[in-house]
Amino acid sequence: MNDTQASALTDKIIENADIEWQESGAPYSRLFEDIYFSREGGLEETHHVFLQANDLVRRWQEADKGGLALFTIAELGFGTGLNFLCCWRLWEQTALQNLRLHFISCEKYPIKLEALQQALSNWPQLKNFSDSLIEFYPDHSPGYHRLHLRSQNYLSSITLDLYYGDAQEMLSQQLIDSRKKYQRNRQTKRRWKVDAWFLDGFAPRVNPDMWSPALLQTISALSGPGTSLSSYSVAGLVVRGLAAQGFTVEKRAGFGNKRQMLYAENAAAPTVKTIASTCSTAKSSTVSKIDVIVIGAGLAGCSTARQLAQRGYRVTVLEQDADIARHASGNPQAVLQCRLNRSASPEWNFNLQSYLYASRLYTLLAQSGDIEWHNCGVLTLDSAYGNTRKKLNNKSYEHYSSRVLRRVSALQSSALSGVEIADNGFFLPHGGWLNPVALCRMYLQHPLISVHLNTKAERLQYEGSTWHVYAENNDISASAANVVIANSYCAANFDQSSMYPVMPLRGQVSYLKTTENSTQLTCVVCAESYIVPADGGRHSVGASYVKNSTDTALSTQEHQQNIAGISGQATSLGLDDSAVLSGRASIRGSTRDHMPILGQLPDPNNWHGIYGGAQDLSAKSQALGNDFFPGLYLNVGHGSHGLATTPLAAEYIACLIAGEPAPLQKIVAAFIEPQRFIQRAQRERIRDLTAAQNNSG
Ligand code: SAM
Repeated sequence: MNDTQASALTDKIIENADIEWQESGAPYSRLFEDIYFSREGGLEETHHVFLQANDLVRRWQEADKGGLALFTIAELGFGTGLNFLCCWRLWEQTALQNLRLHFISCEKYPIKLEALQQALSNWPQLKNFSDSLIEFYPDHSPGYHRLHLRSQNYLSSITLDLYYGDAQEMLSQQLIDSRKKYQRNRQTKRRWKVDAWFLDGFAPRVNPDMWSPALLQTISALSGPGTSLSSYSVAGLVVRGLAAQGFTVEKRAGFGNKRQMLYAENAAAPTVKTIASTCSTAKSSTVSKIDVIVIGAGLAGCSTARQLAQRGYRVTVLEQDADIARHASGNPQAVLQCRLNRSASPEWNFNLQSYLYASRLYTLLAQSGDIEWHNCGVLTLDSAYGNTRKKLNNKSYEHYSSRVLRRVSALQSSALSGVEIADNGFFLPHGGWLNPVALCRMYLQHPLISVHLNTKAERLQYEGSTWHVYAENNDISASAANVVIANSYCAANFDQSSMYPVMPLRGQVSYLKTTENSTQLTCVVCAESYIVPADGGRHSVGASYVKNSTDTALSTQEHQQNIAGISGQATSLGLDDSAVLSGRASIRGSTRDHMPILGQLPDPNNWHGIYGGAQDLSAKSQALGNDFFPGLYLNVGHGSHGLATTPLAAEYIACLIAGEPAPLQKIVAAFIEPQRFIQRAQRERIRDLTAAQNNSG
């Protein structure tokens, strides 16, 4: 798929549901001329048709006894979230110890937040659960939205994936590439399947897309032995369609006045191709398989360690310095903001979802410990874009939901920030600032994580399904089946990751003494520099960008640049060069395309010697970059947006290692995977060869 085709998939506008309210208070879809749930007996119906029919309590209890594992439910039609909330309540009532629940739900026409609140007010008995859903209910940008919901345990046993878009398009993004010969050693070959399906589209007569043969085939491909499925519909085409996909189908007694409902099970020996041959709850018991080494204890490494430990992996973090978060992750006030893209593209999707995921995560983490998370919002003034960029106007960012990004006038900017501002801008209410060192400490507080400081990883060697990490004195520092390289631009020091272009980018932050006016600042303001609200009598202002520099000495000139970058727009702050108390310079790792490099590392050994003529190359272009080092991953290149991108990056890497549903669509992942560089180089080579052939012909 080329970049234009990928953009066409991510720039679909999502329409909201057009709802009419019935006298009973139940929502009714004008588009489908059908009800979402019946006001009388809605909860009992959900219980009968979905929760009980799939025998969830017994299956959860059984899986729970087997150790830490994952149970995956997928639903067609999120609607008001009633099925999800009932399922979540049952889950909490069942009080499991080890099992985690992953609930995926597809929705083409999401309900607006206000309508969701109104619909759920019908069920006061679900209030504890619906309040949490409402708090984190995402904007309606197309694609995947991952939420972690729960009261006690921050990363929770409940993961809710909302897939906004057509169910068939969204679910098929989870199918792995069928060209398995090009996927040597790729970890996505194994392990996850849907354990239970809730088929809850509107009736097949009015909503045929939700029951199409193509969708039933995708359902089957995402199922495995033991997968169950239920629906209120017993329409002939559904029964026949499921049977054709290898399901054993039964009609059972329906709820209330409905005579029948449908229950189906994936036949033990599926007649269609499945993506998973083993149950997702069966994790290998080999000790080395559950060990992971993470190299680097900055935001990328610490968040990855935490997401893996939450899944039961024993993680060893190797850090060359005497403490964690010593480099770019060590500034006292780091800003969470969204990298804005001018059009709806896969990059836009990644940047937006990372930022929103990070904001939700920090809100949850702040409930269980102090990471100094201040969700004060970020105001980005038009002057942030300098003179070189295309001028912004009111329509520049219309592809962002107004819940995520709001255009504001100078007057509104002043009201939002508490200080006088002379420029228009955009306000990001989910942004803010926190202390990244405290965040890294919190990530690492887990009994399955051990941190080895003063341990510099020099080289990696793979022997007999184990990676050995060697230290400076050539001793083995640690060994494990999986390694995640998360040491920013220093990843270039390992043979296996040396070809990925992560450039050092120096950034200096200035600490400025507050003035009477500046203490009034209530949100982060970004012009050519950013300024963070006062903390302990000072503001962080920054940060400079010096390409390819690894120098960390403080520079007076960069202090001046930092102050000049903010004072033009906020003269009322009264900050000038005399306000500088001190500062801090550190080195980030950035990439040419401003996207991090995340994923399993391709093994270059098999690319050599296969270059032929242009035609030959073209045929092989898909194969290049698809041979992988077993168990070796990269998580680097977060640049100056690490606070936004590292949480979702860590979740993505952990899902790859654990073989769980990825939080990113394939078309989005293609823009962050390491092999994009190989494939781009390959395309350039094809172009050059073709041009050379044409010239000589
Ligand atoms: N399970 C929901 C609940 O608990 O409230 C009720 C689901 S309602 C009966 C059916 C849902 O399917 C609607 O929200 C509708 O917008 C959605 N839908 C219809 N066609 C779709 C499609 N092609 N892809 C994804 N969702 C679709």
